[in-house]
Amino acid sequence: MTQATARSVFVTGGNRGIGLAIARRFAAAGDRVTVTYRGEMPPEAENTENSGNFLAVRCDVTDSQQVDQAFKEAEAAHGPVGVLVANAGATHDRLLVRMTEADFTSVIDTNLTGAFRVAQRAVRGMLRAGHGRIVLISSTAALHGAPGQTNYAAAKAGLVGFARSLTQELGPRDITCNVVAPGLTETDMSRALTPEQRRELLRTTPAGRLGTPEEVADAVTFLTGPRAGYIRGAVIPVDGGAGLGH
Ligand code: NDP
Repeated sequence: MTQATARSVFVTGGNRGIGLAIARRFAAAGDRVTVTYRGEMPPEAENTENSGNFLAVRCDVTDSQQVDQAFKEAEAAHGPVGVLVANAGATHDRLLVRMTEADFTSVIDTNLTGAFRVAQRAVRGMLRAGHGRIVLISSTAALHGAPGQTNYAAAKAGLVGFARSLTQELGPRDITCNVVAPGLTETDMSRALTPEQRRELLRTTPAGRLGTPEEVADAVTFLTGPRAGYIRGAVIPVDGGAGLGH
């Protein structure tokens, strides 16, 4: 890929787990990648001191001003954002009877409203450019549900309605919005599950193993590539069969 064809890619929560695998895949293909982080910088940014085609910017997706500032930094370094991956996500599992309103709203704020904030900010530039690719990272829990995850499943299901509505708003423009729904994937998030939760999830996963962040990155890079322009408002499972059509 030449400098002229390299795209400006923005990945939220790109300092670890699935987001970092996605960011690495784009960077390896020659794209200019901005990742957001809150706590620790991703290793790539530390090694390169934010030089070259990998930029890390601090951003909490629950704060619109931080989102706007992060986009300004990405645009200044890499040009208008042409590919957005709304990946930042968090869980706060608790059975409904014990869930506080804060448990619920904070998970919605990060997973669903966070995606709204970054998508809205990105779409403005994409409309000007007449081109764009958006991928929202959902979860098998969105369509299947999961005990203890009424907050998380509602947020992740919300992303599906969001992507389908945005797809209709965008109409024939060359801007797509799709959803990737991973199943249990080997990251800090899945490592936080209890052994019982993990066993149960594996029992209902025909592939009989966890997915890897790289397998999720494969689906994301395909959806943002030149051969995916006619895929719109789709939900692509990367779940070893756990969702089975849900
Ligand atoms: P991790 O817990 O490893 O990473 C979560 C990422 O989201 C981190 O980069 C984290 O940043 C970021 N993040 C969390 N809250 C915020 C916030 N308020 N603002 C900005 N960034 C935030 O999770 P995964 O890599 O596993 O998850 C990535 C996505 O995939 C999430 O949307 C998750 O819901 C989804 N997913 C994961 C599955 C799994 O089994 N792992 C299964 C299905 C879906 P920080 O380091 O600063 O906390």
